[in-house]
Amino acid sequence: MSVLVVGSVALDSVETPFGKAEDVLGGSGTFFSASASHLTPVQLVGVVGSDYPTHKLESLSARGVDLSGVERADGESFRWRGRYRHDLNSAETLETRLGVFSHFRPKIPEQFRSAPYVFLANIDPRLQLEVLRQVERPKLVACDTMNFWIESRRSDLLELLKHVDAILLNDGEARQLTEQSNLVRAARWILGQGPRIVIIKKGEHGAFMFTAHSVFFAPAYPLEDVFDPTGAGDSFAGGFMGYLARTGKLDEEHMRRAVVYGSAMGSFAVEKFSIDRLLELDHDMIRARLDEFRRLVAFQEELPA
Ligand code: AMP
Repeated sequence: MSVLVVGSVALDSVETPFGKAEDVLGGSGTFFSASASHLTPVQLVGVVGSDYPTHKLESLSARGVDLSGVERADGESFRWRGRYRHDLNSAETLETRLGVFSHFRPKIPEQFRSAPYVFLANIDPRLQLEVLRQVERPKLVACDTMNFWIESRRSDLLELLKHVDAILLNDGEARQLTEQSNLVRAARWILGQGPRIVIIKKGEHGAFMFTAHSVFFAPAYPLEDVFDPTGAGDSFAGGFMGYLARTGKLDEEHMRRAVVYGSAMGSFAVEKFSIDRLLELDHDMIRARLDEFRRLVAFQEELPA
């Protein structure tokens, strides 16, 4: 089953302790698509400016991502500039230039409106709400957000929460949104706003999934070389949604496996700049990493007599 994603299609400039990249393919919709396309067909909706090197998006269409919902508008593309210092868990945003994104009104093509799985990637929550008005009863709607929108569009974000099944956000965002320092309390607070699944990612410390009746934790893959953390969150979401869409099941066991798929895809994304590593992957590499996750948490339950 296919996943519809609406998100940013950006040009990123990133500086990490290991190097620099200028105007490379980025954006929440782009990372999500590159990741989820390993598991299921993806339909991407977004906007690029007249300066966008659209030929670079061919790497996504070659992976089966349907780009017919990516509009080209007059003006500058969305640009994000960020820096990571030694703490690779937190990005410092140096510049956000909305460009054509500031006038973007998502138009979901007719053929995408019945998508059973919908991911509202990190964009203005007012636009995320506009998307929901255009789709027909999806099986699962999940969203992401970030500090930029929590600060500037809080009431729209709270309205959005009433209409989504799941939200994925990182620990800092969860604390900022809920004004709770304890993450279990923060998750309970968000569950009270509407979503029935809350996933809180903690970078290199793994990810929690909370529902009304359960808590699940998946570690992050212990990588020795994290090259560029940009897009880890969107790639996690791509693995999570992609797995659910591929199996068509939404019970607790499948949700748990989806979180591990999310962790696996996030761990690949950070090994190179942009979506480069995600484009190199094949099924065997993904399966091998999932096996490593299994070994990472396997133990024998045994109480000494
Ligand atoms: P993450 O998965 O959280 O590391 O997401 C990184 C991506 O988010 C980058 O490729 C940026 O282009 C994109 N991004 C940064 N700021 C925003 C924003 N305010 N709205 C939408 N996308 C953004």
